[in-house]
Amino acid sequence: MSANADWLARSQAAVWHPCTQMRHHAEQASPAHLPLVPIARGAGPWLYDFDGKRYLDGISSWWTNLFGHAEPRINAALRAQLETLEHVMLAGFTHQPVVELSERLNALTGGALGHAFYASDGASATEIALKMSFHYWRNVGRPEKAEFLCLAGSYHGETVGALAVTDVAIFKDAYAPLVRHAAHVLPSPDFRLAETGETPADIARRAAAGLADWLEKNGERTAALIVEPLVQGAAGMAMHDPEYLRLARQLCDRHEVHLICDEIAVGCGRTGTFFAHEQADIRPDLICLSKGISGGYLPLSVVLCSDTIYNAFLDDSVARAFLHSHSYTGNPLACRAALATLDIFATDDTLTVNRRKAQKITAALAPLAAHPQVAHLRQRGMIAAFDVSTADPHFSRRFYRAALDAGALLRPIGNTVYLMPPYVVGDDEIALLGQVAGQALEIALR
Ligand SMILES: *Cc1c(COP(=O)(O)O)cnc(C)c1O
Repeated sequence: MSANADWLARSQAAVWHPCTQMRHHAEQASPAHLPLVPIARGAGPWLYDFDGKRYLDGISSWWTNLFGHAEPRINAALRAQLETLEHVMLAGFTHQPVVELSERLNALTGGALGHAFYASDGASATEIALKMSFHYWRNVGRPEKAEFLCLAGSYHGETVGALAVTDVAIFKDAYAPLVRHAAHVLPSPDFRLAETGETPADIARRAAAGLADWLEKNGERTAALIVEPLVQGAAGMAMHDPEYLRLARQLCDRHEVHLICDEIAVGCGRTGTFFAHEQADIRPDLICLSKGISGGYLPLSVVLCSDTIYNAFLDDSVARAFLHSHSYTGNPLACRAALATLDIFATDDTLTVNRRKAQKITAALAPLAAHPQVAHLRQRGMIAAFDVSTADPHFSRRFYRAALDAGALLRPIGNTVYLMPPYVVGDDEIALLGQVAGQALEIALR
């Protein structure tokens, strides 16, 4: 038995893999069969299995990895931190990495969202932002503000609380009876929904009109609107014009409703600016960050909030305080990985370098634009996507398999194929991703 096959069999028997019908791993004969890929090590944008085959990580290992696997500078920072302090509880204690990271994040918001609250995953960050918003309104004497708004196709995590603002059927439907106060779902500004003659800005304005209508009637009892700025990832890289965010900001101000930007996927330079919302020239009241913030190394999430929100919790009464905690809140190793990641943005001038890489990605996918079954080729910074028209319910798995065979990790969302590589991807590797996408498309459509 090859080393790969051994790990594969042992994993199948003992590990319950996420977001997976485990039978699809076991039944090799099924058209739905998904190969489980045992990874021995990573280096830069490449992952290596136990038999020496390598895969180009075209989706940054679920959108987390920014500067490649086993990045030497992040490794060195973590080694040093390991020798100093691996963890201490954050209630009643503090430490260097969490203070420095909070200061750096504050500076990245221009000082506007200067208070950082920590957790370990994105779904928890979503729940923290929702709880903070609700509790803020309660603290200022507006307890009736207890409803949330999200966009059609929104994804903000899969814990029972976060599912309330997630609108992706495959994640939500089975658990609908558990989700207690589902948020109101608003029309999405996704520019694929534009009617003939409508520009992306037009559909943004049309979607914002829906928000305006809702707030006119229900603003009094609405606490917050949560959005994935510019790109709704799990919806299938649904992109919208920044105009939507500008209008949403104005409407939220008018109706005294918080604007929460979930930058878990789009933050950390993914769309071209450090935060996606910067492209609309607005400031949210709350920001959720996770995924890339630790460079894809360790579970870490952060909620950043304004002075106004923070100050409403200051009081002699414990009940007005934000009584929320996770055991690993502000873990020093995770914060150190995040600091090393932010250092790389500065020393490598990542945002500038990425502008050129984004053009290479555009060029690598350009030949597919003419394909008769490809539609809506679109891009925002280091995210590029297209939709494939096919009635085959197994398209996504067949494409994924064909891409793996050709040496790249590309995992479509339904019929949407996307590239979201680590920022260290080289020009030749970008070209390879384009080639593999074209090849896998032909095989999957056969
Ligand atoms: C991944 C993601 C989340 C959830 O993060 P987890 O760490 O997987 O819980 C929330 N919001 C967005 C936009 C995401 O992409």
